[in-house]
Amino acid sequence: MKKNCEVLVVGAGPVGTTCAARLASMGLSVTLIEAEADCAHDLRASTIHAATLEMLHEIDAAVPLIELGLKAPVYQMRDRRSGEIIAFDLNEIADMTPFPYRLQCEQYHMARLLSNRLAQMDGIDVRFDCRLVGAHQTADGVVAEVEEGGQRRQIEARFIVGADGARSTVRKVLDTDFDGFTYEEKFVSISTPYPIEDVVPDLDYVNYISDPEEWLVLLRVPRFWRVLVPADGAKTDEELVSDDNADSIFTRIVGHGGVETSHRTIYKVHQRVARRFVDGRIAIIGDAAHLNNPLGGFGMNSGIHDGWNLADKLWQVLRKDAGAEALALFERQRQAVTRSFIQAQTIENMAAMGKAESEVIAAKREQMRRIHADPQARRQHLLRQSMFESLRQAQEIA
Ligand SMILES: Cc1cc2nc3c(=O)[nH]c(=O)nc-3n(C[C@H](O)[C@H](O)[C@H](O)COP(=O)(O)OP(=O)(O)OC[C@H]3O[C@@H](n4cnc5c(N)ncnc54)[C@H](O)[C@@H]3O)c2cc1C
Repeated sequence: MKKNCEVLVVGAGPVGTTCAARLASMGLSVTLIEAEADCAHDLRASTIHAATLEMLHEIDAAVPLIELGLKAPVYQMRDRRSGEIIAFDLNEIADMTPFPYRLQCEQYHMARLLSNRLAQMDGIDVRFDCRLVGAHQTADGVVAEVEEGGQRRQIEARFIVGADGARSTVRKVLDTDFDGFTYEEKFVSISTPYPIEDVVPDLDYVNYISDPEEWLVLLRVPRFWRVLVPADGAKTDEELVSDDNADSIFTRIVGHGGVETSHRTIYKVHQRVARRFVDGRIAIIGDAAHLNNPLGGFGMNSGIHDGWNLADKLWQVLRKDAGAEALALFERQRQAVTRSFIQAQTIENMAAMGKAESEVIAAKREQMRRIHADPQARRQHLLRQSMFESLRQAQEIA
């Protein structure tokens, strides 16, 4: 049967667009569909790690994103009460990578850059306002049911990649459990042009500030500080984004309210991993496959790593006649690091920031002091946080 494309990628978020761009760079014919009229103006992820920048460099996307973002070689862990700062400098792994920093750049820049480029490439079809509503497998491919321009139609492909986010339709087609839990507390994310660095001394561009009462993340992007704090899950979203709540958050940070904000959003935060990432010719990646809290900046990055790994396996199947085992290997490799690193590390990061017993926070701080004081342990920590270690571990899984 004649297919519309070799791979149908569902979702033009950061994960779907990088996976589609990687597949296209390997000469595969790709259709990328997105339910919305444009890539979301999404302010969730702002950190791109070094291991991901190396991938983006291979598809000529690192340099334009670096021009749009801020290089953050140093990230700090601060105790909000004592003021003690433990700072890690990624320049220490500059022998390993041409990108020894975290790039602070909002995720929508990546999705827009790549989807615009893909739309101009021969053999690549990018369709906005095109929503996947179902799919089934045939003997030699997959048939996707989509709604586009008020009409139902079918797209036939050899494989479907679901990069359609937390509420993934493709995951529902896989009919797999999404095991894990949801935190009781919500997260409030606020952006402000206010110069917090003038009031809070010694900030870096990335600051994790622990406190049993109210932990805090302060992240710099080119035009704003992004402030992330936990919030009472019992309060309504309206209460949490209210001026009163913003005033009380900023009073605790800079000593007064009335601070100008450019956006306020509430997130529910989950730790979940799909039991299966693959069924036959259908696979899921990114938030469609796993969710984690944002402490450490691993969600989008690990989703991009999923897509990179999967693109390689699809190329082997479509161009080198590899069998179903290639996709099974993708699933084993990416599930293993999702569980052993992404899930474990983010749960640990959350506990270390606060709302845990103060002994837990104290023990974590002591562990960080020890790691920081030992050059070998510090290097290992930097390789882990910049996500080289999880890629190495995945490669070792046969
Ligand atoms: C406050 C916060 C901060 C974060 N910070 C970081 C960070 O610094 N670094 C990091 O790595 N991660 C971070 N994350 C996580 C990161 O935002 C997500 O992991 C990332 O957005 C996942 O990308 P994705 O492409 O898989 O999914 P999404 O970004 O959700 O994109 C999915 C796309 O699929 C489309 N879609 C959905 N259903 C359909 C359908 N049926 N048909 C067609 N299209 C469809 C959607 O419209 C959307 O465009 C953060 C998260 C939060 C909440």
